Amino acid sequence: MASLQKIRRKSLLYKSKVAFADFCINHVEGCSHGCRYPCYAMMMKKRCGVISSYEDWCRPKIVENAPELLERELSRYQGRIKSVHLCFSTDPFMFGYDEIGQLSLRLMRRLNSENIPCTVLTKGVYPGEITLDEGMCRNEFGITLVSLDEGFRREYEPNATRFEERINSLRYLHEKGLKTWVSMEPYPTPNIIRQDLLKILEAVSFADEIIFGRLNYSPRTRAFPHPEVFYKDQAKAVVSFCKRNNISYYIKDGTLT
Ligand code: SF4
Repeated sequence: MASLQKIRRKSLLYKSKVAFADFCINHVEGCSHGCRYPCYAMMMKKRCGVISSYEDWCRPKIVENAPELLERELSRYQGRIKSVHLCFSTDPFMFGYDEIGQLSLRLMRRLNSENIPCTVLTKGVYPGEITLDEGMCRNEFGITLVSLDEGFRREYEPNATRFEERINSLRYLHEKGLKTWVSMEPYPTPNIIRQDLLKILEAVSFADEIIFGRLNYSPRTRAFPHPEVFYKDQAKAVVSFCKRNNISYYIKDGTLT
């Protein structure tokens, strides 16, 4: 396993502005997955001067005082937290960093003990030790999946887990009875990769929910003629697949316009 630098922070929980998440925690600075869509979190951290470069972003630093901060903030927000998302600006089950996954589980268990459910999203794999117990059954476990093509993954998500392993890890949790979801965002335009959306949907047809969203901030998507027409068609296909298979769905704002 890779070794990690440690940092300390003054706060952990913050109120989210995203529709499906009430509060959020990001207990790691940076992310070794190094996505090249590009990663919005990396762009923001660079703009604010928190990180200096892509290489700096790819060297994650764990927030070592995250458990103490959570204790303090749970008392402060008592009764006002409906759910917590892990994470918007890092990956809670970063591939190759077991220490990050263990800290994520510790924070989730503490939140669950206060009857607070978590939504989790990763491009890594979930640890086998997650079982359907009283706490974990409240949570929703997600993976990001925008392709099945490993060539695309190596270019755009160079250090994340292979797609097949990601899907297998999610299916494993589903088979244990846990709630699962798939984020198909940022979905690439055909000038980046030609692929069959239905094949991707079929690979995760066991999931309880699918979220679909367009790729933003990419010059290649901007160069694609009429991306709004493409995304409208793909979103329709997602909706009709989900209806046919009794899967909940959500089309992200801005995808259809
Ligand atoms: S996994 Fe998420 S946080 Fe990490 S680099 Fe990729 S987009 Fe950014």
